[in-house]
Amino acid sequence: MDLSNVPSLISHSVSRFLAQKHKLHIGGEWVDAQSGATFPVEDPATGLQLAIVPAADKADVDKAVAAARKAFESGPWPKMSPIERGKLITRLAFRIEELADELAEIEAIDGGKPLPFARHSDMVQTSVTYHYMAGWASKLNGEQIQLTGGGDFHAYTLRQPIGVAGLILPWNFPQILLSYKLAPALAAGCTVVIKPAEQTPLSTIRLMQIIEEVGFPPGVVNLVTGMGETAGAAIAEHMDVDKVAFTGSTEVGKIVARAALGNMKRLTLELGGKSPMIVFPDADLERTIPGIAGAGFYHQGQVCTAGTRIYAHKSIHDRLLDGIAEHGAKMTPGHPLQPGTLLGPLISNEQLQRVSGFVDEGRKAGADLWSGGKRIGNAGYFIEPTILANTNHSMSVVKEEIFGPVLCAMSFEDDDLDTIAKAANDTPYGLGASIWTTNLSIAHKMSSRVKAGNVWINTHSAFDSALPFGGAKQSGWGRECGFEAMRAYTEIKAVCAAL
Ligand code: NAD
Repeated sequence: MDLSNVPSLISHSVSRFLAQKHKLHIGGEWVDAQSGATFPVEDPATGLQLAIVPAADKADVDKAVAAARKAFESGPWPKMSPIERGKLITRLAFRIEELADELAEIEAIDGGKPLPFARHSDMVQTSVTYHYMAGWASKLNGEQIQLTGGGDFHAYTLRQPIGVAGLILPWNFPQILLSYKLAPALAAGCTVVIKPAEQTPLSTIRLMQIIEEVGFPPGVVNLVTGMGETAGAAIAEHMDVDKVAFTGSTEVGKIVARAALGNMKRLTLELGGKSPMIVFPDADLERTIPGIAGAGFYHQGQVCTAGTRIYAHKSIHDRLLDGIAEHGAKMTPGHPLQPGTLLGPLISNEQLQRVSGFVDEGRKAGADLWSGGKRIGNAGYFIEPTILANTNHSMSVVKEEIFGPVLCAMSFEDDDLDTIAKAANDTPYGLGASIWTTNLSIAHKMSSRVKAGNVWINTHSAFDSALPFGGAKQSGWGRECGFEAMRAYTEIKAVCAAL
């Protein structure tokens, strides 16, 4: 892998952005962290420093929450009509579309995602989500309620914004996942404090500039960059934050849930996964092979819904794995900005060590290395798309979320759907699952048996702003996208008048 031409691939506008002095955005002002602390952000494909950003702590979070509270209670935001609020969100969506090339480039170098994916998937989904949610701003109705006791009463519900929302994000899809939270929060009339992941704060800093330019009133959207244990924890436990929307690991999700108890703040948690992919003997392999390779290897497997456990019928098991391995081998590794790159780096050296450690552990436990498994090059944090076959449910590679391009394959012979579903459901997670078959009846019967927030048939990780998304079991609480997202940022008030 030759990375020597990378500096020349960075556009003028992104170079200029990276060189800026990055700040927090609180109450409409760009400010340093009060402690003056900063941290470096690196390009995971080269390990080189991209920028330095402020490391906010509790004092900065207090200030940001106070600004969000003020903007929620007074000033132009609470007086703005729903249509005006929706128009502002739409304006933001259009501006993201106009600046999509630049935002995608920042996303690609900061997070290690090949540029075409960042441009044609992340940025498209992001702008569509703002467009979609903008419409809900003017459609938030309560309902008239018929009381069981009859009598002269007029009873109805109001759907009102929850208040100040803390949005805590992971590093794998910074803009898509932010849009899943920010767009409905704004549509509902909430104000927010955003904390991006420490590994990938850059596209959100750029977005904050766009939010300011579009004309959101000061304090409606506040941005604090910083570490999870300081800035993130301060948001989670803050007594004046009414709601936290968290996406990240199940482990940290539990910490956030405990912290949120202090003031019983509302919570949505989008957590880890270990999604099964069940392949029946009648599956169309022409379609299934690239589908499963994409499910497991897209963005180097650093996807919460990544398909990671293959349950393949014995009759097609070897053909399927050979096909997926062939796909993996064709994924050209490279810097996300280099044309032709299909496989970027893992996010960090720590993640590379973790993923390699899992592969070693799986092999020691008796799994067969069907393909891949090795680090690629010495610069950056690249690893080959990997398949471990002959795995079983006692192995850590099958039980735990690896968050790398590692597929664990198992086979079945029994045609009993309950037995197959039992294996697929034998996990604390319940985020996604896919079923690959040409038999409509099997597809739907399995969909109802698999315990997951999202089930896909003959596809995997298909998302849409209108389709509720979230996890069952330890993969989370609540749903994002669709009208479900509006429920997550609003509170129902029942009003009952004696006439
Ligand atoms: P993480 O849990 O390490 O961090 C997520 C965020 O939480 C970061 O902003 C981090 O700074 C912050 N944080 C860390 N400690 C905190 C604390 N004590 N209090 C408050 N905030 C804290 O996750 P990650 O490594 O950034 O992302 C990978 C994980 O995210 C995987 O488990 C993946 O499955 C999950 N994920 C889930 C979804 C989903 O929608 N379900 C989507 C993407 C990623």
